[in-house]
Amino acid sequence: MNDRNDNVLAPLQRLEAHGAALGESMIIRRALPHRQRRMIGAWCFLDHFGPVLVANNDGLRVGPHPHIGLQTFTWPLEGEILHRDSLGYVQPIRPGQVNLMTAGRGISHSEESPQPHQPRLHGLQLWIALPESQRFCEPTFEHYPELPVIEHAHDRLTLLVGEYLGQRAPTRVFSPLLALDVHARAEAEIELPLARSFEHGLLVAQGSTRIDGEREALEPGQLAYIAPGRDRLVLRPQADTRLLLIGGEPFKEEIVMWWNFVARSRGEIDQATFDWNAERAFGSVSGYPGPRLQAPLPPWKISEPF
Ligand code: MN
Repeated sequence: MNDRNDNVLAPLQRLEAHGAALGESMIIRRALPHRQRRMIGAWCFLDHFGPVLVANNDGLRVGPHPHIGLQTFTWPLEGEILHRDSLGYVQPIRPGQVNLMTAGRGISHSEESPQPHQPRLHGLQLWIALPESQRFCEPTFEHYPELPVIEHAHDRLTLLVGEYLGQRAPTRVFSPLLALDVHARAEAEIELPLARSFEHGLLVAQGSTRIDGEREALEPGQLAYIAPGRDRLVLRPQADTRLLLIGGEPFKEEIVMWWNFVARSRGEIDQATFDWNAERAFGSVSGYPGPRLQAPLPPWKISEPF
């Protein structure tokens, strides 16, 4: 009935996350950007932190730093994170909630474990590149305490971004995107419909899953890339597996990413770097118990003094 390509699924691309440092002491897994895969839709950054014991230390400490041209998207799985920003928002975030910060033309923020805090920390932070029409917008911050949940006998789906199975997430994004948290409580098959026009990525945060009958299970630290053209994914997870499915229409604009900046040219990054280090243009964050971060110079030759 359909053309035969429907029966021949392109193999999944398995990407290994690489280790990176987050803040003062935490080592995290960075799945995006990856040398073989810069973006999935407008998703341009994907960090998986923990699970890590923070009972006897400060926990997460990321001092004030700037962003331009993106949205930061925070989804904790265990523990609590306190967000502070240059607009004056001070917002704790707990499992089941999303913090979404739209940097637009420029914002600064910090992230920390509150004191005292729960003994474990585990979560995901992603960035969403803003399209040309929005990337210079006024900065905003939104906290979403409740998201649509779809309960099945053996799994629970939480819709974080976009539309899925007749539900719509309240999170405000500016390009066609999806983010879905999948909690498989028992070892049972899950069929996830996919939008054919989207490319997708599946990250394992906890447990493991086989995908479409592939023999080798996807483990924490791995991201499966799924090219556009598929209309479903069949998962066979272990019991108590946590997954994140992200997707979007392939992003058509070429972005330049360096440190905490998403732009379209190196000159824009140079400007943001000098503005932040000169304490211009990004406001200031009050109340963070530590110093602001210094922007590292980009790895290319800076063309002009600012
Ligand atoms: Mn940040």
